[in-house]
Amino acid sequence: MAKVRLEEIKRRFNNVTAIEDISFEIPDGEFWVLVGPSGCGKSTILRTIAGLETATSGKLFIGDRLMNNIPARQRDVAMVFQNYALYPHMTVAENIAFGLQMRKVDAKLIQERVATVARSLSLEHLLDRKPKQLSGGQQQRVALGRAIAREPQVFLLDEPLSNLDAQLRDDTRAELKQLHQELGITTVYVTHDQVEAMTLADKIVVLNRGRIQQIGEPQSIYAFP
Ligand code: ADP
Ligand code: ADP
Repeated sequence: MAKVRLEEIKRRFNNVTAIEDISFEIPDGEFWVLVGPSGCGKSTILRTIAGLETATSGKLFIGDRLMNNIPARQRDVAMVFQNYALYPHMTVAENIAFGLQMRKVDAKLIQERVATVARSLSLEHLLDRKPKQLSGGQQQRVALGRAIAREPQVFLLDEPLSNLDAQLRDDTRAELKQLHQELGITTVYVTHDQVEAMTLADKIVVLNRGRIQQIGEPQSIYAFP
């Protein structure tokens, strides 16, 4: 877990400025949601935090460490995309445990972590299945579990629920919230969905044309009639 701080981050692609003057600090353990129209720069911000994009200028800190020149694989960050990609030959439990095994985490701790994640994401009864024996929604839950089981400092999600049907989206959203409450990992979440933003966010960042329009708690962003 760690705070995430962006200082005047800018990213230009040739002549296109994707994001500009992006500054905010996410306190350790908070869940922030980025919203705004397609093309406003949400993914570029997420990818910059992950190290998949390099800022043209500005500074990125995770914890107190300046990350600009730290490659993605050396960042303690997990990212989940719209399209999950699980290891097809491994069971659900093995998929979730994978990142921990790579880090040579103690077997008992791995078991505990897998159990916690499986409970939060309602996967307990599926642990011995292979991905192809799961529905799309179940597979995406495994992808979420796999990303978060090793408890990265920062968890990044780019529209992780948008390929799911409405009921699954509601269930998975609730489970994700539960998981965040249990693990308390600093999270940045991109969505088009107002309900997701409202129910998940500690703070919402509203972007427009690559700039921050507003940052606030959900109640201050979406007015209620
Ligand atoms: P969002 O995630 O909000 O839809 P993006 O961060 O994907 O927005 O894109 C922001 C802007 O930057 C868009 O105008 C997009 O076309 C542009 N952009 C993003 N990635 C690239 C790239 N690799 N090359 C050129 N332009 C890009
Ligand atoms: P979204 O709108 O869901 O964020 P996009 O379809 O805009 O996703 O972008 C998907 C990928 O294409 C991203 O990796 C982004 O960096 C890249 N991309 C987006 N816009 C452009 C562009 N104008 N030129 C090149 N690559 C782009």
